[in-house]
Amino acid sequence: MTGRKKISFPSPRFPEHPRQYSPARLGIFGGTFDPVHLGHLRAAEEALDILGLDEMVFMPVSIPPHKPDRNILAFEERWRMLDLAVSNNPRFRLSDLERRIPGKSYTARSLSQFRQENPGTELFFLVGCDAFLEIDTWYEYRKIFRLANIVVLCRPECSEDEVLEFVTEKVSTSYTIDSGDRRILHPELYPVHRIQNTKMDISSTRIRELAAMGLSVRYLVPDEVSSYIRENMLYEVAKGDA
Ligand code: ATP
Ligand code: MG
Repeated sequence: MTGRKKISFPSPRFPEHPRQYSPARLGIFGGTFDPVHLGHLRAAEEALDILGLDEMVFMPVSIPPHKPDRNILAFEERWRMLDLAVSNNPRFRLSDLERRIPGKSYTARSLSQFRQENPGTELFFLVGCDAFLEIDTWYEYRKIFRLANIVVLCRPECSEDEVLEFVTEKVSTSYTIDSGDRRILHPELYPVHRIQNTKMDISSTRIRELAAMGLSVRYLVPDEVSSYIRENMLYEVAKGDA
């Protein structure tokens, strides 16, 4: 831990985290973000444009229910990197909602709370296809489809057909698609949007591995994040844990 700077939370750039977001169409991007990388940021930027969203809120998980076996960096440090990454984009925001809710972070619960705090806002929950295809293992996952539009992001390893098969099998047989439409529609539930974002084969796992070996992570994360990881030797401490 030597050489680490003390970090402050809330971070100086976001002295007050808004609980309410005014836009009509709001994207919410949940994740561990350990660390945030250019794959996340580019997918979020493209989702804003493709779906005509007003703003994108990155919502880092506080206590992930699905990664109990791995040492995850403290929320404050993941937050700080997100803060550095989003600060020059006026359409990007952060939410500390999952830190405010005690206990494990369950998406169904977080989205429900988000809706209560932001009545009148239509929510679009972003999820990579790898995570989406495991959503049936999430706590009360069916609720998620009643709370928000789901936006499934492409990652190199997944196919769009799998997404359709998955929702039909695991959520409801009443989903349909119109030819030429990328949305999967349902008479009662929110649509599932499959978007064709640029596939970027970048993962936080790879970044942590590189940093643990003392190698550069430049051009995989924003420069400010790369400097922050290096200066604070963030993932080097993980070497002893491996
Ligand atoms: P890890 O390797 O630790 O699992 P990750 O790169 O998958 O990290 P997460 O924080 O787990 O990042 O991801 C948050 C969300 O972003 C997930 O829904 C994930 O599928 C999605 N995501 C991550 N990387 C990309 C990418 N390169 N392109 C599109 N979506 C991505
Ligand atoms: Mg992941």
